[in-house]
Order: sequence, then structure tokens, then C-alpha cells
Amino acid sequence: MAESLVLVTGAAGFLGSHLCDALLAKGHQVVGVDNLSTGNLENLAHLKNESRFIFEQRDITQPFDIGKVDYVFNFASPASPVDYIRLGIETLLVGSAGTLNTLEIAKKHSAGYLHASTSECYGDPLVHPQVESYWGNVNPIGPRSVYDEAKRFSEAAVAAYQRYHGVNTHLVRIFNTYGPRLQPRDGRLISNLMMQALRREPLTIYGDGSQTRSFCYCSDLIDGILLLAKSDEHNPVNIGNPEEFTILECAQEVQAVAGSRSEIVYKPLPQDDPMRRRPDITRARDLLGWSPKVGLREGLERSMEYFTACIENENARV
Ligand code: UDP
Repeated sequence: MAESLVLVTGAAGFLGSHLCDALLAKGHQVVGVDNLSTGNLENLAHLKNESRFIFEQRDITQPFDIGKVDYVFNFASPASPVDYIRLGIETLLVGSAGTLNTLEIAKKHSAGYLHASTSECYGDPLVHPQVESYWGNVNPIGPRSVYDEAKRFSEAAVAAYQRYHGVNTHLVRIFNTYGPRLQPRDGRLISNLMMQALRREPLTIYGDGSQTRSFCYCSDLIDGILLLAKSDEHNPVNIGNPEEFTILECAQEVQAVAGSRSEIVYKPLPQDDPMRRRPDITRARDLLGWSPKVGLREGLERSMEYFTACIENENARV
């Protein structure tokens, strides 16, 4: 990617905002759009005097055109299970109409296109670790289906715009990612545990904590995405950290980093909660020369300052 004008949807979100920062650091001009349904302008506050960045509040489920762009990164969607289950219809719409509208922009302006897909395309996987050629085990009508099926529809739409219209598309399947700017109240594992540990409250584990996830630090993920964006690869590529932890092990890591001895309380496992998740990153390694550098312990340490500031903000508001 030469220096260019880039559209980022979902720009006020956790990953969208980190992506805007990385693109600006590479010298690009960025137009960030977000309807702020789950995004937070605080994530972009540091860019208010950045002349190469423009923010537009808009809902991408309505057709739009911001004029000539060279590249489109489609990152708009509620992404935490709590949020997408609360915003079910909105999630279906952004992952269908929203994706089609952004693909139309890429087609019209002959722009490159990268879509933020997800390990949720694999559902509760029967193949472990998950390779891109695995088609998944998704409940099409369960509570998570509003997200999983919208993301799967988006992949079909992205593949079709490449096949029928020759758009230069890219599909990243993002595995669990964490770091500063995760919304402290989004209900996800790392945000819940970090906030609970710092407040010296009990840590909530759903089920018996034996289910697994593989956690990627945000800067590693963004590095992989930027490499994929400038590659010639159109098929899905997993980007994630293959180091796999049980949820209980993850809670112990958080306790160690936060210096907390909070007790653990067990809550019911949500319906269709995947039992295990770990990316096979052979394709990312071979195609992009990418692999993650930051382990869970180090990433949690790097996130401490942010979550501590979230607690201080909370206390200031009380
Ligand atoms: N989880 C948990 N306690 C929490 C939040 C989540 O035990 O306070 C579990 C959840 O049931 C799942 C895993 O942690 O097995 C990861 O959940 P998250 O919501 O972060 O994302 P997911 O990977 O399910 O999309």
C-alpha cells in the first residue's frame, strides 16, 4: 500500500481505532466511520488534532459514498457476545447490508478491501486447531447466530465481489484479541477478569472453566492485518495467537498480573459457547511471514495501565 486514502468502518471500536493509529503511523490519510452503537469516541480522542484523520458518525447499513478511496477496511460490527446478543438485528444488518455497501465502495473506486471476519465462522469447532479449510460447526438459529451467520454471509459477499467483480479482497479470521481500549463493560473474558481483579471482586468463570481460548495481543493482530492487506491473498487467513489456555488458566494469569487473590465464582455456561478455540496459523506464517510476538502474561501486563485508568474513571464518576 503506497500512501493513500483509507476508509475504516468501525473506527471507534477496539480494533478499528488501533487500525486507524497504525495506518496514520504509516503515512496514510484515514476516514473513520462508526455509528457509535458499541464504539467509543474516547478511543479516537487522541487524534483530534491529527489533520490526516477525519471521523464521520454514520450507519453503514445505509448506502454511502465518501468519494475516491484507495482502500476499505470493514471493521464495523458489535463484537462481544453480550453486545451482539443485545443488538441482534443490528448485528445481522451490519454484517449483510453494511458489508455489501462497503464492497460497493471498493468496486466503484477500484479500492483494495479487507474484511474483519472471525473465528466464530468455525462455531463450536470439531477440528482442532482450526484451519481455514474447515467449514465450521455453527448453530444457524442459536443466540450467537446473529453474529456468526452475519460474518459468514459477509465472507460469501466478499468472495463474490472478488469472483464476479474482480475486487482485490482480503479476509482475516480474527481470534480472541485483547489489549487497551477493550470496553471495560463489554462482558468479554479479559475485560471482565481484569476489571474484577483490579476491583478485588470475585472473578466470574462460566461453566467449569475448562473451555479454551487463544489470546492475541492487539498490536500483533494489527501487524498481521496490515501484512494481509498488502498481500495478493484472497482466501481467508487466520490471525491469532496459537498459545491455548483454559479459561481457568487465563483467570490465574490475570490474578498474577493484577496481584489479586480474588476468589473465583462459577456461573452457568452460555448456550453454544465454543468448547475450544485455537488458530492454525500456518497460512499466515507461510503467506505473510507473520507470527505473534506477545505472550499472554506480557500482553496482560501491557493492558494493566489502561484497565487501572478505567477503574479510576469509574471511581471518579461515583
Ligand atoms: N467467560 C467467562 N467469564 C466471563 C466472561 C467470559 O468464563 O466473565 C468465558 C466465556 O464463557 C467463553 C470465554 O470466556 O468461554 C471467552 O468469552 P468471550 O466473551 O471473551 O468471547 P468468545 O470467545 O466466547 O467470543
